[in-house]
Amino acid sequence: MNATSEYSAKRKVTLVQAKADGAARRDATEAPGDRIVQACWSCQGPVAVGEPFCPSCKAVQPPGQADHFQRLGLPRGFEIDTAALEKSYFQMQRLLHPDRFATRTPKEKTLSQQQATSLNDAYETLKDPLARAAYLANLMGRDVLKEDGNGPVDPMILMEAMEMREALAEAETAEDVATVTKRAQGEIADCESELSDAFAADDLDQAAALITRLKYLRKLADDTRARRAELRGRG
Ligand SMILES: [Zn+2]
Repeated sequence: MNATSEYSAKRKVTLVQAKADGAARRDATEAPGDRIVQACWSCQGPVAVGEPFCPSCKAVQPPGQADHFQRLGLPRGFEIDTAALEKSYFQMQRLLHPDRFATRTPKEKTLSQQQATSLNDAYETLKDPLARAAYLANLMGRDVLKEDGNGPVDPMILMEAMEMREALAEAETAEDVATVTKRAQGEIADCESELSDAFAADDLDQAAALITRLKYLRKLADDTRARRAELRGRG
């Protein structure tokens, strides 16, 4: 089996499911994240949203409105199977490689480039816990990236950030910086684990607060790297 047919075989299951979902949902309210089916621009056959290729005629499809999880064939949630994410991404990237479209029509070339751009965007967002959390909160109706989207910042979060920032400012040796770095990394791991619980419980208020905390911690971790370089330059 070549890469494309192997890919199609695996995706067929998804499409059958999508058709079943579509049929079952005709009377129901459309839940976000459910797969919907649209007609292939080339053969008019059914293509599930998020599928890069038509399962009938193999024509590359427009990226459409699929969310990042649908695009990479992953269930929507903060906890993701990173091995599945990597595998799906590199497989699709290969299938969308410009070399494969060298002899295709301009329309197909353009669509494959649009698909590749959307695929990269989805991958970059989902592989990073902070970007993934913000994106997921957004999908769930909370615009955490907007100014004031999180509401007032929890004083505890501000205190923690300030305290760690002071420790970093006072760090005079590589060891001091390493201590702050280690603490920041530990807090980041804790924060990500708490984010997972918050999303699992559909607690968007808690998730939004933790996203703010994670932003501070990530910025601090970046600053510890800068501080280490600064100390090295001085010595
Ligand atoms: Zn088709």
